[in-house]
Amino acid sequence: MSYTGRFAPTPTGPLHTGSLIAAVASYCDARAAGGKWLLRMEDIDPPREMPGAADLILRQLHAYGLEWDGEVLFQHQRTEAYLAALEQLQEQGDVFWCCCSRTDLARLGTTAYPGTCRPFTSPRDDAAIRLRVPDRVIRFNDRLFGPQAENLQNSIGDVVLRRRDGLFAYQLAVVVDDAFQNITDVVRGADLLDNTARQIFLQEKLGLATPRYLHLPLMLHADGTKLSKQTFAPALPLPAEPVLLWQTLMFLGQKIPADLQHATPDRILHWAIRNWTPGDIPRQHGMSSLPA
Ligand code: GLU
Repeated sequence: MSYTGRFAPTPTGPLHTGSLIAAVASYCDARAAGGKWLLRMEDIDPPREMPGAADLILRQLHAYGLEWDGEVLFQHQRTEAYLAALEQLQEQGDVFWCCCSRTDLARLGTTAYPGTCRPFTSPRDDAAIRLRVPDRVIRFNDRLFGPQAENLQNSIGDVVLRRRDGLFAYQLAVVVDDAFQNITDVVRGADLLDNTARQIFLQEKLGLATPRYLHLPLMLHADGTKLSKQTFAPALPLPAEPVLLWQTLMFLGQKIPADLQHATPDRILHWAIRNWTPGDIPRQHGMSSLPA
């Protein structure tokens, strides 16, 4: 069976040791299957992005031996595809225009959007576009976390696809582009596990295939928060420190020999691809010996 995987960083800052987990696991999973590994820069939110970060991410991946196939797909160049998807949903009657402010919603004291603006099925100014979600359970099987079930209407309610400020939402862009790039396997952090049912529902609505999903344990700070740019995780060093790849593979439960600790990125990754065992990836999030 053909395999196409991807790594899809958001250029809000450089990659850090936590981001290496998704990069390495998606890379090894693709290469072990003899598949392609594509790179997509999720640059749809300019106010949150850091100038130069996209470029730095490419240099970091290259330095750590994580070579992608083909051209990088930049989401800022995909506006027409996102508009076409929204138009299709509008024609199908699946979206509506919502003027509720954050304060309006906070006042309701519910995390699930209650469907207030559902009657507004034609465009309005200064409004977000939301996808109407059904009152039924969406199921999928995660390769690591097993069977998942979510009723979107109860958990989050109607999903924002285009924000009030006109920017496209991650949920729309990720679904359109996973399909555009013919992704068969999504391997990414477990912080996105609860985004998957939304994405599967949107795939259904757009008539797109659903890839397989494998979510990965997260690396945590000592206080239990996820290592991220927001929590000031340090950037992956350049020039590369290959031991970080070795430690990432240990974190992923792979039984990499100690004597590869100081090998080159190519040798470490060569071992990792040949010995890739997704069944050994732990489900528990963990603190790691990686610098944080
Ligand atoms: N761009 C997202 C992030 O950096 C990842 C999206 C995905 O893998 O679906 O967290």
